[in-house]
Amino acid sequence: MAILVTGGAGYIGSHMVHGLLAGGEQVVVLDNLTTGFEWAVAQGAKLVVGDIADQALVGKLIAEHHVEAIIHFAGSIVVPESVSDPLGYYKNNTVNSRALIECAVKGGVKHFIFSSTAAVYGNPEKVPVGEDDPILPVSPYGSSKLMTEIMLRDAAFAHGLSYGILRYFNVAGADPQGRTGQSTKGATHLIKVAVETALGRRARMDVFGTNYPTPDGTCLRDYIHVTDLTQAHADLLAYLRKGGASVTANCGYGRGFSVLEVIQTVKKVSGVDFKVEMSERRPGDPAQIIASSDRIRALSGWKPQYDDLSVIVGHALAWERKLMAKRN
Ligand code: UDP
Repeated sequence: MAILVTGGAGYIGSHMVHGLLAGGEQVVVLDNLTTGFEWAVAQGAKLVVGDIADQALVGKLIAEHHVEAIIHFAGSIVVPESVSDPLGYYKNNTVNSRALIECAVKGGVKHFIFSSTAAVYGNPEKVPVGEDDPILPVSPYGSSKLMTEIMLRDAAFAHGLSYGILRYFNVAGADPQGRTGQSTKGATHLIKVAVETALGRRARMDVFGTNYPTPDGTCLRDYIHVTDLTQAHADLLAYLRKGGASVTANCGYGRGFSVLEVIQTVKKVSGVDFKVEMSERRPGDPAQIIASSDRIRALSGWKPQYDDLSVIVGHALAWERKLMAKRN
């Protein structure tokens, strides 16, 4: 019996694979390596380079490895890119996920865990945002993930697949043991950008918007350590295996930090007072998104270990240093 991890060579997926192997699981990774890296796949997992939409390949993998569960990370994740290329996002995230879900059903896979996003909530009216609050995505990225949520729910209901949908808040940090981390070039996420600036890979960075209705005028986000996030998947899988009902759950810590607080933390942890400019708002940024995480905690017993912004930043910095050495 194996677990098929799609996108297992990517940022979050590569952390998941380490966690699963440590838990004694047999792991098959399916990744087309467009944004992932072969070196990021832990030794001990089988890497198959291919596409989740290749139903002949996926069907063969499910049968050959007796795949019991699929953890589906593969997809496109850049919100502004989804605005300029919506059809690409609906293809990659929605259409291709449909093909994968169909293979799961046909192949008799028991459990399916899907990486969804807080972007399905759009601009929440209140925080913390709960799973049953209004769903109003404001980007093609959020819509493309929401459509997959709906397909998965309907297919699971019709065909007896058990599922977990996890809506990620702001994922950051890196493997505490330094084996993998966020490695994408041209990353746009705040902690990654700030860490690159601290290490001199960028001359300066911008704060996008300083007049939001928040305590210091900059946006609030719920930053979650990537290792805590992947542990939530492992806990959820254990819950589903015990016969737990299918579920949709937020993955965040339930507290927010402002952009300025994050930058301050990166300066403090790195010891570098890098250049920061106050800039215009970035289109589409909600003022605040913070998770209500009661459901995942109550359901699966998930207990975060790295709920500390300095620790998250410290691990991100350590990985960035390693990555710079790797590239030189
Ligand atoms: N942000 C910023 N400067 C940057 C990158 C991000 O001020 O160089 C802000 C962004 O406007 C948002 C917050 O940081 O308010 C988190 O953005 P990120 O892209 O990390 O994640 P998002 O919440 O958009 O998924």
